[in-house]
Amino acid sequence: MDNAATTPVLKEAFDIMQEYFMVQYANPSSAYDFAQKAKTAVDTARKQAADLIGAEKDEIYFTSGGSEADNWAIKGAADLLRGKRNKIVTTPVEHHAVLNTVKFLEKHGFDVEYIPVNNKGVVDLHQAEKIIDNSTAIVSVMLANNETGAVQGVKEIAYMAHNKGALFHTDAVQAAGHIKIDVGDIKCDMLSASGHKFGAPKGIGFLYKKNGIEISNLIHGGSQENGLRAGTENVPYIAALGAACSFAVNNMEEEISKTKKLRDFFEDMVLNTIPDCVLNGPKEGRLCGTSNISFLGLSGAGIVSALSSKGICVSSQSACASKSGSLSYVLKAMDLNDSVIRGAVRFTVSGRNTKDELIYAAKTLEKIVKTLRSF
Ligand SMILES: *Cc1c(COP(=O)(O)O)cnc(C)c1O
Repeated sequence: MDNAATTPVLKEAFDIMQEYFMVQYANPSSAYDFAQKAKTAVDTARKQAADLIGAEKDEIYFTSGGSEADNWAIKGAADLLRGKRNKIVTTPVEHHAVLNTVKFLEKHGFDVEYIPVNNKGVVDLHQAEKIIDNSTAIVSVMLANNETGAVQGVKEIAYMAHNKGALFHTDAVQAAGHIKIDVGDIKCDMLSASGHKFGAPKGIGFLYKKNGIEISNLIHGGSQENGLRAGTENVPYIAALGAACSFAVNNMEEEISKTKKLRDFFEDMVLNTIPDCVLNGPKEGRLCGTSNISFLGLSGAGIVSALSSKGICVSSQSACASKSGSLSYVLKAMDLNDSVIRGAVRFTVSGRNTKDELIYAAKTLEKIVKTLRSF
């Protein structure tokens, strides 16, 4: 129940990948006929990724994942706007791939401002309007949050950014492959996605960059990815990513309804049977698999480890942040009280979970909470 941290590789993705490791292993840039199949695989995957988000094929740039796409979008845009526009606007609830990138740029002369979120973790559009101004180079606001599942008003914020002549980037890593995304509707200039959050392997993702928008290279070298991201293409992983995009496009509605039904079933069971627990984040306007619940008076980390010993995998905060042992900065930014922040556990359900698993998880959780509270 930690699908926001990662997902297993889909059979469709794994199957196509194998051929490009051992049989069709050519470098897609090579001139001989043998390379044609590898080249076509990359081309097909680019189209499949474009179709996932309503983009054109030549607007997709494969990267090593979501972190690289976030770094590239923000550093690449900032590099070209340095000295002309010196402000970067983001939110305090972004993934570290965005937060640490803007902190890096701050050390190198940019001003960074954060649009606050309300106590449901939703970005405040009135504050956004005030903070985004004519000195803003780039605005980066995530499409959906990895801890609360809160879906942000990115379309409105993109409009505000453009109104002031700024670029708009969205980290869509939690949303891509899970909810319908149309870059033409959002009107974002750039969007990041990561394969391993929706059934492709870890270490592959893409940056959507609208045609006409200019950013500088993060990786200099050969002419791959339209000369903007050098390095021999990871053909097997790119093919797998394409297959996962295709799977998501073809099965999205069914997956959403299945996942939401399971999540709601689990969430209702927990909230109705366990006393003193509260839901964090918005009830509506939330990713369909995410349920962030605080058990008052207890430590989320303690619950995570007790569940782990019963074979149940959940998080007390995002996987990338939990090593540091601190409390969730996302929930802190929502201005929740300390007991709520300390007691938070993130459950992220997928369509692969079964009802029986969720009953087992809810019952185990009830026992654990009762035991921990008896001390
Ligand atoms: C997982 C995640 C990332 C990082 O993606 P990687 O492919 O693991 O580098 C970035 N942003 C969000 C919101 C994520 O959930």
